[in-house]
Amino acid sequence: MKYIDEYRDPQSTRKYAEAIAQLVTRPWTIMEVCGGQTHSIVRFGIQDLLPDEIELVHGPGCPVCVTPVDMVDKAIEIASYSDVIFCSFGDMMRVPGSKSDLTRVRARGGDLRAVYTPLDAVKIAAANPQKQVVFFAVGFETTAPANAMAVYLAKKQGLKNFSVLVSHVLVPPAMKAILSSPDNTVQGFLAAGHVCTVMGTHAYTSLADTYHVPIVVTGFEPLDILQGIYMCVRQLEDGSATVENQYERAVQDDGNTQAQDLIEKVFRVIPRKWRGIGTIPESGWALSDEYSSFDAQQRFKLAEAATEEHTECLSGKVLQGLKKPADCPAFGVTCTPENPLGATMVSGEGACAAYYRYRKERVV
Ligand code: SF4
Repeated sequence: MKYIDEYRDPQSTRKYAEAIAQLVTRPWTIMEVCGGQTHSIVRFGIQDLLPDEIELVHGPGCPVCVTPVDMVDKAIEIASYSDVIFCSFGDMMRVPGSKSDLTRVRARGGDLRAVYTPLDAVKIAAANPQKQVVFFAVGFETTAPANAMAVYLAKKQGLKNFSVLVSHVLVPPAMKAILSSPDNTVQGFLAAGHVCTVMGTHAYTSLADTYHVPIVVTGFEPLDILQGIYMCVRQLEDGSATVENQYERAVQDDGNTQAQDLIEKVFRVIPRKWRGIGTIPESGWALSDEYSSFDAQQRFKLAEAATEEHTECLSGKVLQGLKKPADCPAFGVTCTPENPLGATMVSGEGACAAYYRYRKERVV
């Protein structure tokens, strides 16, 4: 299939792997930030193509994985109300809260609808004025423009029965937290291409300068990832630390400025809790004052509740590149995609789920 096959071409892939092997003179640890990149790396065996000196560690860029358990519990509580139609992307439906998940609410008669876009939830609200319609607005900068547009349109249409449960997270503050940690081992990053399609590359310049770390904005296919690794290793071997753009076919330095303007209007930056990691300063979005009447947490007066991760689970360390799924004694034993104990097994983009699906026989 054009535009996919050409980025999975085995001959070109091998050429890049050979070029990396010729370039490298010492060990380097590189983090791919996005769960989609992790998925490709594990699925296509990219680590196995690389010289022993290059270690890839997996980052926190799986939106489903990092949505906190207490936020899932809030979604479950709202979805259980008889006058609510609860709308969500399909992959949030199976994510376990502390006691249940959204699919079980649906099995008990709750009106839950998997939608492809938050704009569908706005249409559902317009068609069902007697019901409260709530959309679960999770994700990184990538999903924020559509979520912001949904709230903007709901306000413009005067919809009083639409609200959003917001759990948005931002990538650069998470990279900063990883780099600031005394345990950090990451020496170079493959930044998430689709995030930069929206936000551009400027946010990464100060990170590269401050922490003297190369950051290569990278796509998601095998050839993208190998080219991104090549560019990153080239910088590491040179001793340079700049932001480079491997994903030029989709990312411009300024990003999508119209989307950024809309995000700035509808959201404000807040500290956000990340599942498995904890609270990271300035790492999330909540609704701005102008749009706060669309906040489902306020509308349903939800109380904050403390939740804890399973004691066996190392997903916080996996999300920060400090451990690999195979380091966890529970991997594939007591923790599986059907019975996930932690953040990185709950979504197909999570590192533990990707290893379970593609490499289980090699790591168990
Ligand atoms: S295998 Fe399961 S328990 Fe272990 S780190 Fe991954 S999600 Fe946590």
